[in-house]
Amino acid sequence: MGSARSSLPWLRHLSAHVHEHALRIGVVLSIALGVLTACVDLAAPTTPSVQVHAGAKFEMSCPSNVTVEQCTALQDAIANLKNSGDAFCSSLGSTIEGRFNRNEIVYDPNTSYYGYVYGNGDSNIYLGPIAFGPGELANTLAHEESHLSLGYEDSHNGSSNDAYAAGDRCAGSI
Ligand SMILES: [Zn+2]
Repeated sequence: MGSARSSLPWLRHLSAHVHEHALRIGVVLSIALGVLTACVDLAAPTTPSVQVHAGAKFEMSCPSNVTVEQCTALQDAIANLKNSGDAFCSSLGSTIEGRFNRNEIVYDPNTSYYGYVYGNGDSNIYLGPIAFGPGELANTLAHEESHLSLGYEDSHNGSSNDAYAAGDRCAGSI
């Protein structure tokens, strides 16, 4: 254990030093992350009953389990449809607005679909979390409304009674 060992203390010292340095960075990072986590926690809807009703724009007809931001997005999408220069889409928007005012827009946080309807007497439009992604809300609403009020189908072929065509037509630039 001669020459090989003589170089080890320096390596160990260096290693220990680096380790100590890394530990300090780790502590600083942990503190920073701790603060960041706390901020994220504050922003998250951990107390929906308080947070959801805190916004000025929140209305009684907002789905009970959405955030203020989600309901604002929902109202904006409905307004955009209603104000569309395309009479077909504007008509769908007015019908959807009526549904919104009757609390028939329902948020289903557990579905993997953009949205769905049952029809057959159930007048609700159910929206999933991904419907609230960028550019998806107006498309999903128009799609589902065309099922409910016009009897459109998911034919995927762009025909005159295709719910996908209706969604794409009305979402357009929204
Ligand atoms: Zn469909």
